[in-house]
Amino acid sequence: MADKKWNTSLIPDQRGRVVVITGATSGLGKEAARVLSNKGAKIIMAVRNVTKGESVADEIYKMYKGADIKVKELDLANLKSVRLFAEEMNREYKQIDTLINNAGIMMCPFSKTTDDFEIQMGTNHLGHFALTGLLMPLLKNGTDPRIVVTSSVAHKFGNINFSDINWEKRKYNTNRAYGDSKIANLYFAYELVRKFKEEGTNIKVTASHPGWTKTELQRHTNLSGLLNNIFAQHVSMGTQPTLRAATDPTAESGDFFGPAKHFEMHGHPVKVKSNKLSQNREAWSRLWDISEQLTGVSY
Ligand code: NDP
Repeated sequence: MADKKWNTSLIPDQRGRVVVITGATSGLGKEAARVLSNKGAKIIMAVRNVTKGESVADEIYKMYKGADIKVKELDLANLKSVRLFAEEMNREYKQIDTLINNAGIMMCPFSKTTDDFEIQMGTNHLGHFALTGLLMPLLKNGTDPRIVVTSSVAHKFGNINFSDINWEKRKYNTNRAYGDSKIANLYFAYELVRKFKEEGTNIKVTASHPGWTKTELQRHTNLSGLLNNIFAQHVSMGTQPTLRAATDPTAESGDFFGPAKHFEMHGHPVKVKSNKLSQNREAWSRLWDISEQLTGVSY
């Protein structure tokens, strides 16, 4: 019962922690940057639109005078940008304590990333796969380091066609492509947990999903507007699973957090279960190999 009432007052002091948040310009990422700033973390907002990032940082500075925020450019749909961001981080920082892989796009029309990947898989999974690998030296230096992967209930619609991951041989189905990218997030998290355990690496990996939360994510769907206003939860609630996954000292590697109520759409964050397909180890390692091949990043 107590578990159902987790809330941000339970977040431990974050002073001294270096926290990287992708997609911190809106929705969950912006809210996580706000809350963790208030808890004293040094925030690196990794964003594709630096002007928008700076204005979010200004908003947070107005709320919390002692906030410590850096805004850095990162376009997950462009591997060159991911490499430049990681190089800069490796030059300027000694460690990263928490990496929150949050940025994402949903159900947009077909397009490709700069590196010719289907846009949702490219942004939501492959960009983060490359980023995490390139930041690994800093994460290994972190204090109680943690990686948070953001998935979705939509992982249940995912079933990756490994021989056509970029949708070159089939008619595009944007809902399915989003689901594929969100089950990919879980395959990645679970394979990372497995690998770290095997090699004795002391980095926790957790996953989260926000249920249905009103943000800018729904802009390409008919879930935006009225339905969003009526049914979606507020971003302060929707960000709690991410914040719990990022900070709860009792969380274990492999834990997946989501809202407690209404088929995991609303409520305080609790440990939830992902579907059976997401537990398929063969799929984890298959996606891992393809991700290494496509991004050229090997861990
Ligand atoms: P928003 O659209 O509000 O925020 C998404 C963030 O990702 C923005 O900061 C956006 O930047 C950034 N982003 C998009 N593409 C790129 C890119 N190529 N490179 C870098 N950053 C990028 O959505 P949410 O806050 O709702 O989404 C956050 C995460 O939560 C996503 O992973 C999403 O899949 C997941 N999620 C959300 C749900 C919900 O109900 N809201 C449900 C299930 C999962 P910009 O501001 O420039 O557009």
